[in-house]
Amino acid sequence: MTARLIDCPNGHRVKPIPVLYGFPSPEMFDDERAGRIRLGGCDPTDMDDRVGDCPTCGAAIPLAALTTSRTPS
Ligand SMILES: [Zn+2]
Repeated sequence: MTARLIDCPNGHRVKPIPVLYGFPSPEMFDDERAGRIRLGGCDPTDMDDRVGDCPTCGAAIPLAALTTSRTPS
């Protein structure tokens, strides 16, 4: 599986940090500290339409960025 690069709202072309929901395990806390994942909270109803967070600026990357990133600039 190839890593997919997506344009964040601030113009970075990045591989988004996945946002995970649910009660986090100790390993997930370690992963968040290391910047590999982001914890979205225990309540799945908080889930919004985002792919993940930009590892560069931390902006939430909306699902819509998946389709707009497909167009070559
Ligand atoms: Zn960014």
